[in-house]
Amino acid sequence: MSKQELELYVEASGEPAYRGRQIFGALHRRRLRSFDEMTDLPKDFRARLAERATTSTLNVESRYVAEDGTRRYLMKTHDNLPVETVFIPEERRDTICFSSQSGCPLQCDFCLTAKLGLLRTLDAGEMVEQIIVALNDAYGVGTRTPRGTNLVAMGAGEPFLAFEPLMKALRIMADPDGLHIVPNRVTVSTAGVVPKIIELASIADRPHLAISLAAPTDELRDRLMPINKRWPLKELLAACKEFEESLKPGERFTFEYVLLDGVNDTDEHARQLANLLNRHELHAKVNLIPHNPADELPYRPSPEERVEAFKAILESKGVRAFVRRPRGRDIYAACGQLAARRVSNAVGQTLHQLS
Ligand code: SF4
Repeated sequence: MSKQELELYVEASGEPAYRGRQIFGALHRRRLRSFDEMTDLPKDFRARLAERATTSTLNVESRYVAEDGTRRYLMKTHDNLPVETVFIPEERRDTICFSSQSGCPLQCDFCLTAKLGLLRTLDAGEMVEQIIVALNDAYGVGTRTPRGTNLVAMGAGEPFLAFEPLMKALRIMADPDGLHIVPNRVTVSTAGVVPKIIELASIADRPHLAISLAAPTDELRDRLMPINKRWPLKELLAACKEFEESLKPGERFTFEYVLLDGVNDTDEHARQLANLLNRHELHAKVNLIPHNPADELPYRPSPEERVEAFKAILESKGVRAFVRRPRGRDIYAACGQLAARRVSNAVGQTLHQLS
């Protein structure tokens, strides 16, 4: 619930509105996990709350800590669906990658989450709670975080198919009486849901946007990211242009391009990608993402020299390109790997792809 919803909720049970603000601060700023710990609330009120409400719905089923400090969580919703979250510590800030859906309805060919299909879209509370769980695990319940927290909606799911709960979660997290993680610290990554890109262009207080491209031609993108059949590159990039024109100073807008060895990483692909972006007069930078290798996958990461050659071609054509460092590879800290591995083990399926 937002702070206002909590105020109304406690008022409906005969308590003054400020009790709602107290609960909001206890849940989000102090990151408390039970009504019992909210000792500034009257004891009988806490008991009544505990009977009727819950402070958390996600359960951490497994937790993995990588050599580089990356922490990965597989959580379960109240209805037993997998949710994945990754905490990535960096020198000057922490980044938390959260999921917007359990599973995903899109069928990106290089992604293991796709194998799950859509299990359910998460609600706003389930998105916010992933952040609270990760921060409490890294720093202790209620402890002030030593660095700023950035968020990326790049876990399982297509965030723009969870648009309403996502926007609500972002508003709750931005509240100065709560986590106080403002939209300027959040990046939302979409596979290309064109109407929502256009809608976001008209929203004032919005997160940064990243578009996952993965291919420079419709033919290849249809195969790697079938959402392209619904919104082909021409439509997608026209929406991107509209979004780019709405950018305010300090806002970030990027393209993500996962490099798959021999599939989308040749010199010709690099030239096609640069020409495509230049043709649409898009100035956004391109993040080149090395694919996470896995035995079960027909895709392999591009060799380092290929990544560098690809980057050099983009740059020679005036496109700014950066290589993203993979984190937490030893704990499969890439989109969808954990949940799908678990589910696949549980049902004994043979997996064809991991991302
Ligand atoms: S890459 Fe993202 S959008 Fe595509 S299937 Fe996987 S989770 Fe869904």
